[in-house]
Amino acid sequence: MSGSTVPPVLTIAGSDPSGGAGIQADLKTFAAYGCYGASILTALTAQNTTGVQDVFPTPAAFVEKQMSSVLDDIEIKAIKTGMLFDTENTRAVVRALKARYTDHDASGSIPPLVCDPVCVSTSGHTLLHPDAVEALISELFPISFLITPNKAEAELLLSHGAKSKPQIDDLESMLKAAQDLLSLGPNAVLVKGGHVTATHDDIQKFIASHKDVHVLRDGLFGENMEILNIGRTPNSEQLVVDLLQDKAGKISLFVRPRIESTSTHGTGCTLSAAITSGLARGASLEDAVRAATVFTHRGIETAPKIGKGNGPLNHLH
Ligand code: PLP
Repeated sequence: MSGSTVPPVLTIAGSDPSGGAGIQADLKTFAAYGCYGASILTALTAQNTTGVQDVFPTPAAFVEKQMSSVLDDIEIKAIKTGMLFDTENTRAVVRALKARYTDHDASGSIPPLVCDPVCVSTSGHTLLHPDAVEALISELFPISFLITPNKAEAELLLSHGAKSKPQIDDLESMLKAAQDLLSLGPNAVLVKGGHVTATHDDIQKFIASHKDVHVLRDGLFGENMEILNIGRTPNSEQLVVDLLQDKAGKISLFVRPRIESTSTHGTGCTLSAAITSGLARGASLEDAVRAATVFTHRGIETAPKIGKGNGPLNHLH
């Protein structure tokens, strides 16, 4: 393979020494996609498949130093952020990006930035201080090409500064959340539906109530809205739907059968790293998300049994 076919990508995230999530999941995903992975560590964690035991954040000034070391040297094609941990580190990342990418000409414009707004681990450990949500929203979202919240993250982000916490429990509330998050400044929002249950009927109902966006049933393609169908979807099956809303008004649903598995540690990290890799390889946003959902789904399906708890995905397929 010649060097030019290995696009350099960058992850800015926390370390998981057990190898299933964070920086380690990102680098494995980049490699699986044939990308060259650079990594900036915002925090060390002591964790394994049973949970997060402790967090040791990188000093913000050192995050900024790592950023300029990498960005001064390597022509990065796409960037993802994961666990940023606190306000200082979030601000340091944004400062360094703005220093490098001045946006004055094409070579100065920021590469596609995928922000995975990591807030809390599945085991319940804080990975982003609550007071850092403000910096995430006001400073990082406006320069993000895509943000990829799951249900809990979308609810938390939308309750920031609001009187009540929204409940995301079906496709309509996922769409509302995506649109509300879009108004905070990113170019596009992917609300992940791993913690929301949907059936084929729910999807048909959703399509019917959005007739105004003109959808062709089962043909699965419409003018402004598409259902990208992955695998068989008999009526009774429990489906997982990720909903992508972009600034141009397009909605895409990514549908696949639910897999009952405990091998889900680092699923969000893997998905966002896969999207980042796809973008670095020149895919459209929708194609990058579609390929990434398939990559992540297969990673769960073929996961090795590693550790005593919630195990990692397979990144080698
Ligand atoms: N640890 C780190 C460093 C992470 O970045 C993340 C998620 O982004 C997690 C843990 C969460 O892992 P889990 O999939 O178990 O919630």
